[in-house]
Amino acid sequence: MIPFSGNPLNRVSEKRTDTAWVEAKRRDPSSRIFPMWRLEPFLLGSEKSAPPLEIGLVQPEIADELGLDDAICIFLGLDGDKALFALDISEVSNPTRTGPLAGLGHFRDARTAASMVSIKDAAIIAQAKAMIDWHQRHGFCPKCGTRTKLMDAGYRRLCDACKSEHFPRTDPVVIMLATYGEECLVGRGKLFPAGMFSALAGFIEPGETIEEAVRRELMEEANVKVGEVTYYATQPWPFPSSLMIGCFAKADSRDAHADETELAEVRWIERSVARELVEGRRVDGIMVPPRIAIAHHLIRAFALGEK
Ligand SMILES: [Zn+2]
Repeated sequence: MIPFSGNPLNRVSEKRTDTAWVEAKRRDPSSRIFPMWRLEPFLLGSEKSAPPLEIGLVQPEIADELGLDDAICIFLGLDGDKALFALDISEVSNPTRTGPLAGLGHFRDARTAASMVSIKDAAIIAQAKAMIDWHQRHGFCPKCGTRTKLMDAGYRRLCDACKSEHFPRTDPVVIMLATYGEECLVGRGKLFPAGMFSALAGFIEPGETIEEAVRRELMEEANVKVGEVTYYATQPWPFPSSLMIGCFAKADSRDAHADETELAEVRWIERSVARELVEGRRVDGIMVPPRIAIAHHLIRAFALGEK
């Protein structure tokens, strides 16, 4: 399973507009609150605890002791009968030192946290992080500039002045591995760590299909012309709100050279080399992203001969 996918919660979206139900669940002692502090998820244990770690879910009364009546609070869904909410506690100055969360856990950046918890917990981190991040950046109406208010348990913002509605966004990104026979194409971004090579990627533009975006990005970034494009898998990527759409693309030839404004280098790698790279080994100074990235799973699928 690809990290950030496989969300186990039942989102019961039909309940979001039932304010009385949402409020009752928010106060129900069996419900759980997932604190996020400055977009960092709460994890049980200390910073020195060895993985696997668990996300820190607290009782509503513990969250209430933080005294954040106006904080962004999102209904994430039901885990069995238990309701789960994400709460933005960014206004608390030092929540792990003092207050009701002190001694219970710690906060860690979402990407690192997601690599240390179960697939189930990582998916909940993705949902909570993307939702709170969106609210933090969309407090004002893009049409008239008036402050908007949170509605539907967090899944809508409403402008009272011009009545426009705003919904949490997901930005589609294509990420693709071009292949030619027994080789696949990887590239090194200018800001990547030394030796790190990955699948090429780019945002889908308005008025563009997935396949068109794959063809355009491979041409722009690596001057590679491709024929058939096939879909492999998607991954929610909450940094801040992407949906990574993983694809394979059959290159017409082995010709490739990096567009230097975007990439430092592109290389064709043999399937046998790809097999070693996804096992975490370096080959000729090259390494590929870890399991948290869908690029790893594309390269793995090629390495195993699935593509
Ligand atoms: Zn407005």
